[in-house]
Amino acid sequence: MPSGKTHTRIDLFFLVVIIGIGACFWSPLVEYFGRDEMVEYGTVFVIAYLFGTFLLSPDLDLKASDPLKNWGILRLLWRPYSHIFKHRGLSHTPIVGTLTRVIYIFVVVYALAAMTNAFFDLGWKMSFDDLKDMDFKIAIWALAGLCLPDLFHILADHTLKNAR
Ligand SMILES: [Zn+2]
Repeated sequence: MPSGKTHTRIDLFFLVVIIGIGACFWSPLVEYFGRDEMVEYGTVFVIAYLFGTFLLSPDLDLKASDPLKNWGILRLLWRPYSHIFKHRGLSHTPIVGTLTRVIYIFVVVYALAAMTNAFFDLGWKMSFDDLKDMDFKIAIWALAGLCLPDLFHILADHTLKNAR
């Protein structure tokens, strides 16, 4: 199986390729989406892609892995995830696997924030109302940035069975 470092290298290699392709098609992209929007979408995409590569990798379904280490002390948050999802099961499914991690970390962070809010009586507004105002297009670009490195990870797992 490719090691965590190999996965990171593969993901970063493809990020460079994607940025290269994006640069080649920059004019038509800007014409279609607008310059400011394209800079915004591109930035969101790259940040999401790096977040996916270093922190939200499919290998969070393991008890120990490089992406887990990257969370530092917060890796404890992923303990239940590795119990729920068996290695290379649903977590290693394109798009769906990525969504399991996005939803999982959202639920965990929301639950912790809600508990902190109630315990310390902080009066935080914890409603989902603000989600309505979320820019749908930005969300799609962010999701694409999170899903793509996972896709390369899954492909590498399948094709580089004997690699390290
Ligand atoms: Zn894997």
